[in-house]
Amino acid sequence: MSDSKDRFATRAIHAGQGADSATGATITPVYQTVTYTQDAIGENRGYEYSRTDNPTRHALEEALASLEGGRFGLAYGSGMAAIAGTMQLVKGGDHVVVADDLYGGSYRLFTEVLPQYGVRFSYADATRPEELAKAVEPTTRMVWIETPTNPMLRLVDVAACAEIARRQGALLVVDNTFATPLLQNPLALGAHVCVHSTTKYIGGHSDVLGGAVVVDDEEMAQKLRFTRNATGGIPGPWDAWLTLRGLKTLAVRMRQHQENAQRVAEFLLERPQVAAVHYPGLPDHPGHELARTQMHGFGGMVTVDLAGGEAAARVLCEGTRLFALGESLGGVESLIGYPWSMSHAAFPPEVKRAKGITEGTVRLSVGIEDAEDLCADLAQALGRT
Ligand SMILES: *Cc1c(COP(=O)(O)O)cnc(C)c1O
Repeated sequence: MSDSKDRFATRAIHAGQGADSATGATITPVYQTVTYTQDAIGENRGYEYSRTDNPTRHALEEALASLEGGRFGLAYGSGMAAIAGTMQLVKGGDHVVVADDLYGGSYRLFTEVLPQYGVRFSYADATRPEELAKAVEPTTRMVWIETPTNPMLRLVDVAACAEIARRQGALLVVDNTFATPLLQNPLALGAHVCVHSTTKYIGGHSDVLGGAVVVDDEEMAQKLRFTRNATGGIPGPWDAWLTLRGLKTLAVRMRQHQENAQRVAEFLLERPQVAAVHYPGLPDHPGHELARTQMHGFGGMVTVDLAGGEAAARVLCEGTRLFALGESLGGVESLIGYPWSMSHAAFPPEVKRAKGITEGTVRLSVGIEDAEDLCADLAQALGRT
């Protein structure tokens, strides 16, 4: 078993993943069982029913908590289940301040579903924390941010937002999906709750949906566990196992994602068809300095604005050979997406424009193929625009 002083790559492989206590199996088994035979009424070996707890899921939760540097981890059936679970920390009458550069599914939950239960939301530009502070009201109980943001990859100062939340007695939640626990640890920066869609980099192979929440506070962890058990949004043992298997290679994958993303970003800067490249690893990116202090790397996502607008974006998205046109991100294979009508379809056009998303914006999830092949693929597709 690992100990908490081990470094990231070691914990990814060993935390929560000691030999199986029943058999000595080196790799955590898939405990494909609903129930657990009890030794006597009221006497069990720590497990009763798999919605409440399951050993495969438990191993994943220990590993996730360890990688985020938090005390308690909870796994969910998807990122949205993790987000919906986290939102059960607020109740009707509470107010939530949300960074306006936000995952489309979270936006849908916050605008279409939770207001029905009396939770109120305000949106602010979190890249300027003073704007976030202005949106705080007497009943604000939660502040919700993402960094780097999607798809414009802007940086939000987590410590500054934590201070705003703390002054109000509110919780700061950070959706850390884009950064991954290797590159950013929100709890260490003052956040109270860290959420992930493990579907993306943590799983890493685009073959399993999942979500996670990591917290330090025991009472909060108990509350989250209670509501997850009451509402049921858990991952099955196979999904937990696949996520755990993906997570073991997170450190090596992320290093390659970043190296490739930096190469692709620098390559795109030189192309005449490209009007702007958004990547925190570029020295003139507005969040570059903050990324250097707040993160341990710049990630694997690159967004470009094409000079030729929608027509050029269409040709690029449909003309790549290696970059597959599709939703999602963070897998070993490269993906290309068109935020205007794909990931950000739920936002009204004027909201998209205010965020900097245009009809010429294209988002790349740079995979871990050979970087030269990826650049050649983009060059040939841009050549058709
Ligand atoms: C994908 C994603 C989610 C939702 O996760 P699912 O696993 O698809 O439910 C939430 N936040 C961010 C930033 C994401 O990229």
